[in-house]
Amino acid sequence: MTAPGYTRILLKLSGEALMGEGTYGVDRDVVHRIACEIKEVNDAGVQVSVVIGGGNIFRGMAKAAEGMDRATADYMGMLATVMNALALQDALEHLGLPTRVLSALHIEQVAEPYIRRRAIRHLERGRVVIFGAGTGNPFFTTDTAASLRAMEINAQIVLKGTKVDGVYTDDPVTHPEAMRYRELSYQQVLEQGLQVMDATAITLCRDNDMPIIVFSINKPGALMRVVLGEEEGTSVRK
Ligand code: UDP
Repeated sequence: MTAPGYTRILLKLSGEALMGEGTYGVDRDVVHRIACEIKEVNDAGVQVSVVIGGGNIFRGMAKAAEGMDRATADYMGMLATVMNALALQDALEHLGLPTRVLSALHIEQVAEPYIRRRAIRHLERGRVVIFGAGTGNPFFTTDTAASLRAMEINAQIVLKGTKVDGVYTDDPVTHPEAMRYRELSYQQVLEQGLQVMDATAITLCRDNDMPIIVFSINKPGALMRVVLGEEEGTSVRK
């Protein structure tokens, strides 16, 4: 069997990835399936860290636009990511995979506080580390948290699991003729405003040479194929 191409990865999952066919919340079957995919990669000897979004429960920007204070709405969004982190932790532990949730906001009864060296230690011990509460700061996104944490823990790559199997020239749902990019540069993503991650996250990756692969988390086995270096999704690099 081919050896994995990475020893430490950061997987970014949007909150919507946990929703399945629903329009809100967490679908347990979907979370179980994602947990199985993570286990497969972990079993292959890859250290796995995860940043999870909260859009399935709360989207700060949308609520702020409705008249709520933006920072308050963003804190609610961050708390939503902690709920998702706990749901994923539960699913991983049901599979026998030791998992730690490290939160950027202090909620000691629920999760360990985020401490960089502790996160690295957990990973070295083979535990899956889930980073909750984004960066801990309003006005940011979990995409930015993913780039930041990947850099902090010296992950080799950010794997962004989405509903679509890469970045397309147009929305493949409404435009069936849309083509998938195999490779993009950070600059192309920024200049063309392509839907990879928000500009802050992309800029952070660009400035620190952190490669990104966008792939479908709904496609069975895709995560493992990405980790094995097989042609899958869209890669973004220099
Ligand atoms: N959020 C924030 N700071 C962060 C990360 C997240 O304020 O560092 C808030 C923000 O309101 C955001 C929400 O949490 O809308 C959920 O995160 P995100 O939208 O990134 O989740 P996803 O789209 O990946 O589900």
